[in-house]
Amino acid sequence: MQTPLQMSPVEVSVVIPVYNEEDGLQALFDRLYPAMDGLGCSYEVIFVNDGSRDRSPQILASQYHKRPDVTRVVLFNGNFGQHMAILAGFEQTRGKIVVTLDADLQNPPEEIPRLVATMREGHDYVGTIRRERNDTAFRRIASRAMNRLRERITRIKMTDQGCMLRAYDRNVVDTINACREVNTFIPALAYTFSANPVEIVVEHEERHAGESKYSLFQLIRLNFDLVTGFSIVPLQWFSAIGTLLSLASAGLVVVLLARRFLFGAEVQGVFTLLAFNFFLVGIMLFGIGLLGEYIGRIYQEVRNRPRYRIQAVLEGTPEQQKTTESSCAR
Ligand code: UDP
Ligand code: MG
Repeated sequence: MQTPLQMSPVEVSVVIPVYNEEDGLQALFDRLYPAMDGLGCSYEVIFVNDGSRDRSPQILASQYHKRPDVTRVVLFNGNFGQHMAILAGFEQTRGKIVVTLDADLQNPPEEIPRLVATMREGHDYVGTIRRERNDTAFRRIASRAMNRLRERITRIKMTDQGCMLRAYDRNVVDTINACREVNTFIPALAYTFSANPVEIVVEHEERHAGESKYSLFQLIRLNFDLVTGFSIVPLQWFSAIGTLLSLASAGLVVVLLARRFLFGAEVQGVFTLLAFNFFLVGIMLFGIGLLGEYIGRIYQEVRNRPRYRIQAVLEGTPEQQKTTESSCAR
C-alpha cells in the first residue's frame, strides 16, 4: 500500500548512490539541500546505501530524520555497484525530472538548477561535460581512449561518458525501470531511450573526502559493460579479422607449397614462423576472451537472479514511516 505522500508527484528527484562515504556526507548535505530548496519547486532526495561498511547508513538515517519530508533512504544489504544503486533509486523516484549525482561532491550540487532549467527547455536528457576534470592523469587519458572507442562502435554520442551528474525525463526513467539487464551503464542506456538529448558543461571538483571506490580492475569491467552492453561490433571486427587471416594463411600455404616443389624443403625461418604463431595464438586468445565477455553476460542474464536486495527503505514522515523489507526483483 502506498501512502498519499508516496504517491504525490514531485518536480525533481535526485538519486545519489553512497558507498563508504562517511567523511563527505555532511558536506554533501550542507550544499545539496540549500541548492534544492533554492529551486523553488517540490523535490525529493533519494540516497541509496550500496552496502557501505562504514557509518554511512547511520549518517543517512539521521539526515532522513532531519528532513523526512524530502528525503528517502534505500538500504541495500550488500555492495551491488554504483549502477545498481542508481537503478534501485530510479524505482523509488516520483519526480518529473530525475537527476543523478555522486555522493563525493565531485559533481557540485549547485549545478542542479541549470540541469533542471535545461530540461524545462524541452529536452528529455541532459548530459554533461566536465569543464576541467579533476581526476588523475591516468584516468583522464584512459577515459579519453575509451570515449573514442565507444564513439566508433556504438551509436551513443556522449562527449564525456564518465560524469554522472545528469538529468533524465520521467519517461526515460520509466523505460529504464522496465529494463531488467544486470550489467549496464545508465547514461548510455538513458541516451538510447531519449528523443531530444543535449549536453551542457558543468564544473567538476576533486573528491571532497575519501578515495575513489573504483579500482583499475573495476574500471576495466565497467568499460566492458559499456562496450558489450551497447554493441556487438567487437565480435563483428573479430570475424572480419578471422576471415582476413584465413585468406592470408591460405595464400601462404600456396606460396610455401610452390616453393617446396620448386626449390625443395626449407628449414630456415623457423623462428619467424614461431613468432607468427605466437601472434596468431594471441589473437585467438583475445577472441576467446571477448566471446567470454559476452557469454558471461548472457549467463548472468539467463540465471535471472535478483539484481540487488533491499534491506529497508526509510520513507514517509516519521508518523507514516515504514521500513519495508523486500527482495527487489528483476
Ligand atoms: N559507489 C557506489 N557503489 C560502488 C562504488 C561507488 O554506490 O560500488 C558510489 C560512490 O559512493 C559515489 C559514486 O558511486 O557516490 C561514484 O564513485 P567514485 O567517486 O568512487 O567514482 P569515481 O568518481 O572515482 O569515478
Ligand atoms: Mg568520484
